[in-house]
Amino acid sequence: MLDGDFFRRWLITAAEAVDREADRLTELDSAIGDADHGANLRRGFAAVTEALAGSEATAPGALLALAGRQLISKVGGASGPLYGTLLRTTGKTLGDADEVSRADLAQALRAGVDAVAKLGGAAPGDKTMLDALVPAADALATSFDAARAAADKGAEATIPLQARKGRASYLGERSIGHQDPGATSSALLVTALAETAD
Ligand code: ADP
Ligand code: MG
Ligand code: MG
Repeated sequence: MLDGDFFRRWLITAAEAVDREADRLTELDSAIGDADHGANLRRGFAAVTEALAGSEATAPGALLALAGRQLISKVGGASGPLYGTLLRTTGKTLGDADEVSRADLAQALRAGVDAVAKLGGAAPGDKTMLDALVPAADALATSFDAARAAADKGAEATIPLQARKGRASYLGERSIGHQDPGATSSALLVTALAETAD
């Protein structure tokens, strides 16, 4: 079972990965966006780390909701509300249990991913974070490692796609040939989850 300590470790591992990879995320965003994705997420996850330190919450759902609120208020850009919605909806779906199973998390993450799709109006294949998140949420029903592999594969598979949502879509065919920054950061978050479970 996964308890509050597991979720705290996941979020902190994710924040460390975002901090380490921020330059790469911004570089990807400079090719097909406005070169701020790494800085946006670094700011957001620094706020998540700080909020966790100042909170006594122990329920997995409450911890994810707390992190989601920080991302919504601190990240800005398209990815802030989208990632914030992902974590808030996943957290709300988990409810107030002290421990949840991987299957519970897979189901809740599915609900979170659906909320992202609804908010942003995107679907897999549009070259967004959903190209990593949808297969990862599905694969999490199997294992943490399957989710990590699915997210990495989904992020890489955005390279030949033409963007249909977000800033990259303004480039039309010129968005082809570059990996989507949001799908790349989503893969980082799923990798952090799998590392936490190792
Ligand atoms: P902005 O584009 O506003 O500067 P970021 O650079 O932080 O925001 O995030 C860009 C990422 O957000 C994209 O790479 C893409 O993965 C994701 N994104 C943008 N629009 C959407 C959308 N409508 N649905 C899902 N994801 C989106
Ligand atoms: Mg950007
Ligand atoms: Mg921006």
